[in-house]
Amino acid sequence: MTARIIDGKGIAAEIRKELAQKVADLTVQGKLPGLDVVLVGDNPASAVYVRNKEKACREIGINSTIHRLSEATTREELLGLIDRLNRDTTVHGILVQLPLPSHLDEDEVINAIDPEKDVDGFHPINAGKLQVGDADGFVPCTPAGVLELVKRQGAAIQGQQVVVVGRSNIVGKPAALLFLRENATVTICHSRTKDVAAECRRADILIAAVGRPQLIKKDWVKPGAVVIDVGINRVDGKLVGDVDYEEVRQVAGAITPVPGGVGPMTIAMLLKATVEAAARE
Ligand code: NAD
Repeated sequence: MTARIIDGKGIAAEIRKELAQKVADLTVQGKLPGLDVVLVGDNPASAVYVRNKEKACREIGINSTIHRLSEATTREELLGLIDRLNRDTTVHGILVQLPLPSHLDEDEVINAIDPEKDVDGFHPINAGKLQVGDADGFVPCTPAGVLELVKRQGAAIQGQQVVVVGRSNIVGKPAALLFLRENATVTICHSRTKDVAAECRRADILIAAVGRPQLIKKDWVKPGAVVIDVGINRVDGKLVGDVDYEEVRQVAGAITPVPGGVGPMTIAMLLKATVEAAARE
């Protein structure tokens, strides 16, 4: 069997098109969606991510402002800016690009964002809403993109075995909770799991969010499973996922490529959350 390739790039483009229409409708109603992104310091990867977010916003008509602050920004200056954005009614979404320079406390900064504007879904109020099954909160964009990909390519979720490898607060844990909310039977594996391969082999839907290049091999995957690879690893100047793509595509039913799978969905979900925040106003 050769797996069907899940075209994340194409699906993300479809979502952006749907959102562009919603933005146009909201703009007519005088609710032009606004996303403000705060970038502190000169991390080159962060600068690229922020530029991509700005471009994606512009393409669908969202008003995006980037606040580029110096590495030497103080805690008070940063919290002051967040307070101002919290009170600005033209700003619907606030995103602080992580990581922050080491003198700034990321938790304190995230906690300062108004949960109603926390389109990244990192605020404890939104994490708590996901935990208790309250669909009103914002959800971290990458796992939201994973769920959307699985749904749009038509896989059943209810009652299925979903195995998530990785338990980070931004990907693994929220992905597990999202699939639990969809009535899947969910297993979370992590670095201390005894036999990760055996757990993975039970999965109807396998989600890899580990950060270890090509960790997941062909004999870890149940024939016909849906395999979603969140990993982004640079090996010899090339991007590879956490799944050994060439091997695993021989047994999986469907698989996401890296790049072109989950990556484009993350930004699409950020745009979606911003449009929702504006619509709720
Ligand atoms: P993280 O380092 O915070 O978490 C990794 C998790 O993997 C941990 O919970 C750890 O326990 C687990 N783990 C580590 N080694 C393991 C092993 N051998 N077996 C089982 N579990 C193991 O990473 P993260 O932020 O969750 O990111 C995971 C990957 O996803 C990275 O490659 C990252 O670049 C990528 N990522 C991609 C996107 C995207 O938009 N596509 C977004 C966020 C993260």
